[in-house]
Amino acid sequence: MSAECIFCQIAAGKVPAEVVYQDEQVVAFKDIRPVAPVHILIIPRKHIPDLTAITPEDKELLGHIHLVAVQIARELGLTERGFRLVNNCKDEGGQVVYHLHFHLLGGRQLRILG
Ligand code: 5GP
Ligand code: ZN
Repeated sequence: MSAECIFCQIAAGKVPAEVVYQDEQVVAFKDIRPVAPVHILIIPRKHIPDLTAITPEDKELLGHIHLVAVQIARELGLTERGFRLVNNCKDEGGQVVYHLHFHLLGGRQLRILG
């Protein structure tokens, strides 16, 4: 855990968030500035700064994050209609918070990324 990291603080329950799912490896919570009817962030509890910092040790964790994303999407009725799972990596990828996270977006027609 990184003391200055907002997502570590959320994972530790020290900063409030609307948590929709959590287990020993991951936490999923609503984005504070949603850009779609469903906008959930899925994060590992482990502080990984960005996608380039993953290692082979994280393989199982990354698979788990995807399974959790689909489970949440299914519970929200998105698996028929479809949804988007996005990681913004570093500056040119649009990353603002440097704790690995995946955006689960859905509930409206999403357009091709620019
Ligand atoms: P990034 O641009 O790094 O991929 O996305 C960071 C996301 O985190 C943004 O969509 C932003 O709205 C969200 N965010 C930033 N700070 C907080 C916070 O304190 N609580 C919640 N729930 N979301 C946050
Ligand atoms: Zn962190």
